[in-house]
Amino acid sequence: MLKIKNPATGEVFEEVESTCISDLNFMFENAQKAQKKWKTTSFQERKDILASFKANLLSKKSECARLITIEMGKPYTQALHEIDETARRVQWFLDHFENFLESRVLGETKGIKEILSWDPHGVVVSISAWNFPYAIASSVFAPALLTGNSVLYKPSEICPLSGIKLREILLESGLPKDLFQTIVGDGSVAQTLLEFPVDGVFFTGSYETGKKIANTIKNRFIPTVFELGGKDPAYVCEDANLEKTIDSLIHGIFYNAGQVCSSVERLYLHEKIYERFLEFFYSRVASLKLGDPMLQDTYIGPLGREGNISFLNQQRENALKKGAYELLSGGASKDEPGFFYKPSVLLNTDHSMSIMKEESFGPIVGIMKVKSDLEAVTLMNDSDYGLTASVFTEDFDRGKIILAHIESGSVYVNSCTHLSPNLPWGGRKHSGLGSTLSLLGIEEFVKPKSWYLPPS
Ligand code: NAD
Repeated sequence: MLKIKNPATGEVFEEVESTCISDLNFMFENAQKAQKKWKTTSFQERKDILASFKANLLSKKSECARLITIEMGKPYTQALHEIDETARRVQWFLDHFENFLESRVLGETKGIKEILSWDPHGVVVSISAWNFPYAIASSVFAPALLTGNSVLYKPSEICPLSGIKLREILLESGLPKDLFQTIVGDGSVAQTLLEFPVDGVFFTGSYETGKKIANTIKNRFIPTVFELGGKDPAYVCEDANLEKTIDSLIHGIFYNAGQVCSSVERLYLHEKIYERFLEFFYSRVASLKLGDPMLQDTYIGPLGREGNISFLNQQRENALKKGAYELLSGGASKDEPGFFYKPSVLLNTDHSMSIMKEESFGPIVGIMKVKSDLEAVTLMNDSDYGLTASVFTEDFDRGKIILAHIESGSVYVNSCTHLSPNLPWGGRKHSGLGSTLSLLGIEEFVKPKSWYLPPS
């Protein structure tokens, strides 16, 4: 049984039965049968169902957003945005999957036609994180279903109700019931699920769990995508427009209480603007409203995971002990019930501190002063992770030169954190393997078939 806590109050508000092994057997068999039929359906039929899903999701926007807020604490205004973002992703796949899947004549040799087509994998497993329960799920189920797969979806144990809701809306939109099934439970349920002969695994979560999954499915040669954590850096050059830079970084660091895989967690400031930056930055951070996530003007809600409070405390204390100090007083908030953490901005940090090396996943950032672009590049690359990186400068060529040297999946000049379905989303090093979104994020759900046909 999963006890679902509202992170804003710390109280259990619902209990949900975990999926048991005999149900998993049943669900897997049904997913296999349903997929065999589904892969023969027309593109138009799939398209109509997913388009209807998008419309139904938007018509239930406030209900779904409220559920996100109550399950994982994201401020309601940001949760509404997540529903819009989910619809945008679904629409992108609707607009692009058909062209991608059409078989193509790629050549002709000695009168033999050479044609490429694609087959779906079969039953794919989607194991997901809790920080964007709808948006992350949609990067998997939309392309998976449109390309002819069935999906066994294991949402995070923090957000099972959002996972159940997603299925409800898909079924209401006309999706045959066994094509998308929600599995409820913690990591042990997910691990049991992976013992079934599934045809693909799409995982979003931490590097530590990613390693366990890689170990569970080793030697099976099934397609996998790992979207893992980050320790993303930003570098502010001395010629940056400080007002715009700080606007962007405030969101990059503190949006969703810093619980975004691509949150900026390390900030390198050129020494020539260091003091001026901190002066403006201080007042912007101090003005961020922390509190009830249902209120319109709340920017920082509670943490989604209670246990992360002690990890953030450890990181903060480790840094303070090693000589860092705080720009303004942050840390666990005692003023409210629930899992609140006040923004913590640590100065005088260095790479011997956990705050500059290990993923925090909270409203906390470490700042360092640098003397040159070369020093910034060296520090930015000094990480086990490689999800995103950004540079703020009015000299775009300089920004591009710096970013060309950075080992990250996505790089930004004068912005940070965000993503577009036009481009692949994926990490390097401990941040993952493979891509979601974009044409590459469609290709992950199909396998190529090469045809050699006589002339007709
Ligand atoms: P997590 O790794 O704790 O859990 C993710 C999922 O894995 C959950 O559904 C969990 O039940 C499941 N799981 C746990 N143990 C398992 C096991 N042994 N076998 C199979 N599944 C298991 O991560 P989280 O706390 O839910 O999410 C936060 C992490 O996700 C952060 O590291 C964040 O950066 C990352 N993330 C990455 C992206 C991305 O696109 N790269 C997006 C969102 C979140």
